[in-house]
Amino acid sequence: MARYDLVLRGGTLLDGTGAAATTGDVAIAENRIAAIGKLAPGSGAAEIDVAGLAVAPGFIDVHTHDDRALLSDPSMAPKASQGVTTVIVGNCGVSLAPMLPDMPLPPPLNLVGGDPRFRFRRFGAYLDALDAAPAAVNSAALIGHSTLRAGAMDRLDRPASEREIAAMRERLAEALDAGAIGLSSGLWYAPAHEAPKSELVELAHELRKAGGIYTTHMRDEGDHVLDSLDESFAVGSEAGIPVVISHHKVIGTNNFGRTVETLPKIAAAITRQPLGLDAYPYIASSTVLRAENIARALKILITWSKPHPEASGRELAEIARGWGVGQEQAAERLQPAGAIYFMMSEEDVRRVLAFEHTMIGSDGLPHDRHPHPRLWGTFARVLGHYCREEKLFPLEEAVRRMTGLPAERFGLAGRGLLAPGSYADLCVFDPDGIIDRASFAEPTTPAAGIHLVLVNGETVWREGSATGARPGRALRRQQLQRERRG
Ligand SMILES: [Zn+2]
Repeated sequence: MARYDLVLRGGTLLDGTGAAATTGDVAIAENRIAAIGKLAPGSGAAEIDVAGLAVAPGFIDVHTHDDRALLSDPSMAPKASQGVTTVIVGNCGVSLAPMLPDMPLPPPLNLVGGDPRFRFRRFGAYLDALDAAPAAVNSAALIGHSTLRAGAMDRLDRPASEREIAAMRERLAEALDAGAIGLSSGLWYAPAHEAPKSELVELAHELRKAGGIYTTHMRDEGDHVLDSLDESFAVGSEAGIPVVISHHKVIGTNNFGRTVETLPKIAAAITRQPLGLDAYPYIASSTVLRAENIARALKILITWSKPHPEASGRELAEIARGWGVGQEQAAERLQPAGAIYFMMSEEDVRRVLAFEHTMIGSDGLPHDRHPHPRLWGTFARVLGHYCREEKLFPLEEAVRRMTGLPAERFGLAGRGLLAPGSYADLCVFDPDGIIDRASFAEPTTPAAGIHLVLVNGETVWREGSATGARPGRALRRQQLQRERRG
């Protein structure tokens, strides 16, 4: 009689720690990995021959804006199609909850907000909605600092007052109690740009009490990137909390090459405090359309525009020429809008990816009409392009950056490792064939080479299609902490 629900036979096993690959069978019973090794024939109720294919823990996308996509498009095809089984939502200071019913949504809050069907006054109500209508993949949620500000302040172009900070702290504590795993900030964006470091430190005291994490889209990733690193480290050390530097990069042609300064600085800080970073494998960034980026980008592509939807996918310079105006003026007419900015150097991107502490996060924008290809391509691009073709790191190491390392950094107990007892979040892929196919011209093309993706023991993606299964869980901080203690 079969002892296991499913046995994957004879795969190349990458365990998520970076250890050398081995060959063996993986058995799944209910939602867990039950055994790994040489398993008796017929021990699985179902068996799949995966010889020649890699079997890895499901990938963890540590930097996403999937807060609403989990509810509005629960198949999560952009992620499941790449082997992603868990997403961290609520990054860059922007979370879908808590949002008051009549709260204004200045950019970039409109990247996830804006649909009245998905508006949650309390953070717990958001997690309850995820429980009631699960997505295909697991999620863990951060609270956005800008979301808290928009809910507590009448205007955002100033520091918060003591009273406003107290109101934010209360809402943050409530969210952490409900199960949020931490706080994110987006200090580069207008809604948070006037928030001083002390405001973040005060909020971060709630994180310390709860054992939460702080992620930050820093105030400056250009000329003043080193100051912004210092500020990010200081929030962590003053409040006594772990920090993640989001989508680390240096932007602007005049700053090309400066990762030779930032990475040693980060490496030194890591010896003093709990600190991590993530990155996506592209030389272009993407967010809302901001005029200040025009001068420092080599090229700008429009991803969406409310008044001019037909502009999606076109170059800003070409749109401006067609209208007979300057790029600044064209940008003005397109608002509200989103854009892709070519403003990093390939050398910097490689250096950050190759840095031993870097995790992989897509930063994909799921509601954009013509999104940055990172939404559909990030993980396959790291494995196919940067690992196999460019030999930036061995396959075992590439997998560690997207599994074991982020699970440890974000405290995702029972995930990110191929080990008996772990949750059966798995990705079976062809190490010789995996590659991103999403491009700047065709950004929603699924990756090649992903054969099978399991979340909590259920198949969510198989040979190019979503199965319709939705076994994803909304992971709660308290549950994760209990499981970590074992
Ligand atoms: Zn960001």
